[in-house]
Amino acid sequence: MDHPVTPPRERLRAAYLRDESEALDALIGEARLPAESARRVQDRARALVEEVRTRQKAVAGMQSFLREYDLSSQEGVLLMCVAEALLRIPDAATADKLIRDKLSQGDWERHVGRNNSLLVNAGTWGMMLTGKLVSLDAVSAGNAGAWLARLAARAGEPVVRVALRQGMKLMAEQFVMGRTIGDALERSRSAEHAAYRHSYDMLGEAAFTAADAERYFAAYEHAIDAIAAHRIEGASSVFQRPGISIKLSALHPRYEYAQRGRVMDELVPRVQSLAERARRGDVGVTLDAEEADRLELSLDIFERVFASSALQGWEGFGLAVQAYQKRSPFAIEWLAEIARRERRRIMVRLVKGAYWDSEVKRAQMQGLSGYPVYTRKANTDVSYLACARRIIEAPDAFYGQFATHNAHTVATVIERMPAGQPFEFQRLHGMGDDLYDEVTRMGHACRVYAPVGSHEDLLPYLVRRLLENGANTSFVNRIADSTIAVESVVADPVAAAQSNATAANPKIPLPRDLYGDRVNSAGFVFADEAASSPVLAKIASFASRTLERVADAAPADAHRALEVASRARIPPAPERARILERAADLIEANGARFMALLAREAGKTLPDGLGEVREAADFCRYYAMLARRHFAQPEELTGPTGESNRLELVGRGPFVCISPWNFPLAIFVGQVSAAFAAGNPVVAKPAEQTPLIASAAVEVLLEAGVPRDALALMPGPGETVGAALVSDPRTAGVAFTGSTATARAINRALAARDGPIVPFIAETGGLNAMLVDSSALPEQVVADVIASAFNSAGQRCSALRILCLQEEIAPRVIDILAGATAELRLGDPARLDTDVGPVIDAQALHILEEHAAKMDREAKLICKATQPHALKGGLFFAPRAYEIAGLEAIDREIFGPILHVLRFAGPDLPAVVDAVNAKGYGLTMGVHSRIEETVEMVRAKACAGNLYVNRNMIGATVGVQPFGGEGLSGTGPKAGGPHYLFRFANERTFTVNTAAAGGNASLIAGSE
Ligand SMILES: Cc1cc2nc3c(=O)[nH]c(=O)nc-3n(C[C@H](O)[C@H](O)[C@H](O)COP(=O)(O)OP(=O)(O)OC[C@H]3O[C@@H](n4cnc5c(N)ncnc54)[C@H](O)[C@@H]3O)c2cc1C
Repeated sequence: MDHPVTPPRERLRAAYLRDESEALDALIGEARLPAESARRVQDRARALVEEVRTRQKAVAGMQSFLREYDLSSQEGVLLMCVAEALLRIPDAATADKLIRDKLSQGDWERHVGRNNSLLVNAGTWGMMLTGKLVSLDAVSAGNAGAWLARLAARAGEPVVRVALRQGMKLMAEQFVMGRTIGDALERSRSAEHAAYRHSYDMLGEAAFTAADAERYFAAYEHAIDAIAAHRIEGASSVFQRPGISIKLSALHPRYEYAQRGRVMDELVPRVQSLAERARRGDVGVTLDAEEADRLELSLDIFERVFASSALQGWEGFGLAVQAYQKRSPFAIEWLAEIARRERRRIMVRLVKGAYWDSEVKRAQMQGLSGYPVYTRKANTDVSYLACARRIIEAPDAFYGQFATHNAHTVATVIERMPAGQPFEFQRLHGMGDDLYDEVTRMGHACRVYAPVGSHEDLLPYLVRRLLENGANTSFVNRIADSTIAVESVVADPVAAAQSNATAANPKIPLPRDLYGDRVNSAGFVFADEAASSPVLAKIASFASRTLERVADAAPADAHRALEVASRARIPPAPERARILERAADLIEANGARFMALLAREAGKTLPDGLGEVREAADFCRYYAMLARRHFAQPEELTGPTGESNRLELVGRGPFVCISPWNFPLAIFVGQVSAAFAAGNPVVAKPAEQTPLIASAAVEVLLEAGVPRDALALMPGPGETVGAALVSDPRTAGVAFTGSTATARAINRALAARDGPIVPFIAETGGLNAMLVDSSALPEQVVADVIASAFNSAGQRCSALRILCLQEEIAPRVIDILAGATAELRLGDPARLDTDVGPVIDAQALHILEEHAAKMDREAKLICKATQPHALKGGLFFAPRAYEIAGLEAIDREIFGPILHVLRFAGPDLPAVVDAVNAKGYGLTMGVHSRIEETVEMVRAKACAGNLYVNRNMIGATVGVQPFGGEGLSGTGPKAGGPHYLFRFANERTFTVNTAAAGGNASLIAGSE
């Protein structure tokens, strides 16, 4: 049973993107210590730092290595890239390429001899890397680059590869406790661990498939049993005994807000079962904290399991709370309420948070009204201190577990903690050892978070740790850097936060202000219920309304509309810009209405609908900005003295805009707003399938102030209305998005007209490929493939049609792809949990079914999503993938969720690019590779308008990824790009001989 939402939970919800200054103000008082206490904290922290620095000098090890190659150096970043990819690359040739690629770029020599560390010294690189090649050291003592080159020359690339792999494993081992839980438990008995408790973490990231989730579940079960059997003398309570950390994302392939129903039904029982097992062995369980949009879901899961009757009376079930999130104090408040309701303590692990950079990036991409995390390090620290105080002051509700490597944070917790109150510190294995050797000597308990797993599983974790160690704001980085004064390392974050002129970091603009020259479109995340609930409620209210009908126009109407348009008075550019900006605001204000219409008329899912609303608003603001920049005043041109020369851009006359059904709002508004921004009246013909959305868009544009005679909507069939518009002599230009065949027909019709030759801007389809070499991360590839091929039921011109996989990585990618496709849900697009809605109409469905039947005969079916029985007979088509033997199997764009997969041998990659080019299309292309040389090869060869590297290949952002192709895919210029408006305009120059009236006065006046 779900418990009612209580006031603390309401507060938590309201704080998702809370204003940073407001959030900070509320916490400063709680975090601040009385002067006397603050002084003691400072002294204690200073002593700890000095002690750690003294010891570090003695053992120059991994820490100095990481500091030398920190992320402010190019070499540090390169090393991280090698570390991220090398161990997982299955084939030698690609591994060697990666090494060459990365090692050829850095200035490795400059690191040599700067540090006493054995690891930094080039000679011992050899030792670190191979343990065998010591004899090479002498020749290379002063020159790492030369050493590597010589090593490669002498021993050959395979040796360097083996050496580097070995080096990476060493680096990895720094952060891993053991390859198996048995190894890790054994190691915990060693002297270096004697003073510590442990929480074991079974490495591996999110599950993509049901099979992954099963595997992780089994690994957790096995680990719990092993930990339970591991006896520790004197450890009487669950707090003292070793425990386990669990990642919810590893236990369910769809652990996400949109799938809440499924998650509560399927994931809760799994967590429950693990928790009960753990209780039987008295093994403490902590749920790790993950991305911000999963916070509430994780709290719901936690509450369900914590409150279950099977766990009554047991205090071994806890969770992590991230202080960098603005909601963290309210999470603590809410947890205290749960603990008191259930009458037992919760183990709360307070961390600062490990995903800060990705939270910031995501918020910017999503156009959120703020950030879910703080934007200054000091603010995160203040939040941590305030949250720590809340935990410490609620001993009836919490067993506090303070996870930090920061000496100031540690010293503050010690200062605040009442004598005798049980608590513990926590640190990550391989980090903060020196600090905690000292802190445990002071008598405080500390638990080590101990990752367990193979090297391949550890890569994402390793990268997070390298980021943490390498970030120059991070405490572990600063404590190791003796050039930073101790006083600065232990500076009081409360004072630091207060001394900042603004609470928020001015270097990180709010997502809305990202672009500087225009406002970013507003978005929200569905997981932010305070923002999404009102929108979803509005969408639901629209869903029950009867749809109106829009009558088709006749060819005579088309001619009349052009007649009216040709006489329209178009406002000057600044006014047009203001109108378009108002239109953008109105589109956003009507977002729910548009999303509802998009779902009903075009079968678009809610996230797709939101994306489209945002894109439409972006188009309006972007073209408004360009209109002001290029159309508001003439450009002065330089020429001989005594003459003035100006270039002016003016509208051409009535523009016909013909838009498709697959982006019935965004492309419709994009074309119309561009034509209008450039000073033209517009006659717009929407797709036959989506006139209602177009009509709603026109309503909004007129309300924003587009003059009535400057915008006419002409719904109707292309063959009649479209043809009439295109052939009319008053049409001064055509912007078209749709099929290549229709573009050709329009082109011919325009060519057949007498009179002026007019511009034709066409954006058509593509046969888009993604090329994946074996350095790519299979999970990331699959996430991007699913989004690129199956989002919007594959009905995007940018959608992925051909996935080309290097043969060594193909089996793994195909395996995950099959599992992930099986997790997709088809259904009503107006439901948040629907991934794939219907295709647009019966004809589209028929084409897809025909092609699928052909593929069933000629290719190998790899996977297919399940189509629920209830959807049979509708317009649904289950996403699927086929393996094809060669590119000849597909020659034209099939507009829907059918993916073709082709394997290739590594050396053939350039030939694959040529073969894709030879198809004649040139819209989008994707590459997944960690090797820059490979990416550069593809970039140089690819005939594609939009090339995406290591990401999905859909959802081009206006002004950021201007969109449009070449060859059979379109004429350009690119929509949403800086050159687009020029094609809609005439250019006029205006030359005045200023010397005509009696001489060149200005020249004479300026002479010496
Ligand atoms: C036992 C243990 C368990 C952990 N479990 C989790 C977990 O479940 N989930 C999780 O996310 N992390 C987890 N972590 C990782 C943890 O978040 C980091 O190790 C931690 O943030 C480092 O904090 P610190 O006090 O050691 O370092 P500090 O250097 O004092 O602080 C680093 C923190 O400041 C943040 N920061 C840096 N720059 C800025 C900025 N400009 N604005 C705002 N904040 C900034 C960083 O993102 C980071 O959170 C765990 C750590 C430990 C020790």
